[in-house]
Amino acid sequence: MNPIEIEQLKQRLQLQRQEILQFLNRVEREMYSIDDHSPQDSADQCVASVSKESLFERTSQQRTMLRLIQAALRRIQGGSFGMCATCGEVIKDRRLLALPWAQFCLRCQEVQEFQEATQGDVRPHSDTHVPPATAETWRRAG
Ligand SMILES: [Zn+2]
Repeated sequence: MNPIEIEQLKQRLQLQRQEILQFLNRVEREMYSIDDHSPQDSADQCVASVSKESLFERTSQQRTMLRLIQAALRRIQGGSFGMCATCGEVIKDRRLLALPWAQFCLRCQEVQEFQEATQGDVRPHSDTHVPPATAETWRRAG
């Protein structure tokens, strides 16, 4: 990726950062306004907590995005942009254009995702959380 392309990506990232910051500011104001109008009955309270929860969910996604963008901007500034943080190889242009905040080359990303997927709960997934013995007893009883 040449310096001009990196500069273009930088501008894209800065714009996106700006948008996220504006979004977060707006949400923060919304949160405050929910607090201000303290609800009178339990129904209102419920609505307030639900909307707060969804706001929180939305902001946490945006905050993650913001961190990734800021890290990418730092890498651009530090001259390490476009290099895999794990193996140091150059990340493909196509990947960077699609995901300017990508820190790893595709190969390292896949290795990492595989590790994350296998690190979690390794027990086989079941629809019911009933141990087999108990389920069997129930079937016999029913
Ligand atoms: Zn790599």
